[in-house]
Amino acid sequence: MTFSTLGLSDKVQAAVEAAGYTQPTPIQEKAIPIVLERKDVVGIAQTGTGKTASFVLPMLTRLESGRARARMPRTLILEPTRELAAQVEENFNKYGINHKLSVALLIGGVSFDEQLKKLDRGVDVLIATPGRLLDLFGRGRLLMTGVEILVIDEADRMLDMGFIPDIEKICKMIPTNRQTLMFSATMPPEIQRLADMFLRDPVRVEA
Ligand code: AMP
Repeated sequence: MTFSTLGLSDKVQAAVEAAGYTQPTPIQEKAIPIVLERKDVVGIAQTGTGKTASFVLPMLTRLESGRARARMPRTLILEPTRELAAQVEENFNKYGINHKLSVALLIGGVSFDEQLKKLDRGVDVLIATPGRLLDLFGRGRLLMTGVEILVIDEADRMLDMGFIPDIEKICKMIPTNRQTLMFSATMPPEIQRLADMFLRDPVRVEA
């Protein structure tokens, strides 16, 4: 199996080659075509399996058409911690070298002013921790109506950290015609319930 059969754009394939990857990992092989088909996905995968690229690469391909508008992120990725959010941003920078996309991090410890300026200019990808996102949304500085793809990453860690009520609020703020991707290392009942409530006929893939 090579990356060239998965349906990724030329720009994304070039970035993958530049990263030195010769073949997709199992989760990438299974998830990438489904994300490109705009279907919802429940991915059972741990860190270290290539899980991040399994959503970042098809998202980059999808984002090549269309453009961002002020305060209306086109895609939203929820992460349980600042560190994980920063790692996902690095992945977008690495695989998005051939793209001119605007990627913003919305996490605690970064000044609101800077984050707001970026959002006002329009962002393609917003990577956020749930609390900070709800805070900014509550201030009326963010519109969720343009979100085409929502990623709930590390769902079981979100559960451990008590973020499920926040995730539910955020899911309700985004129009239901979005695509939703959820990744979790394990599937406890609370996470299955979340998937049942907020994903539409998800395809289940495992690393
Ligand atoms: P992740 O599971 O997303 O945390 O990725 C784990 C590591 O695997 C990261 O350092 C990636 O750079 C690397 N990686 C992701 N996809 C591939 C691939 N197809 N071939 C080789 N390494 C990869």
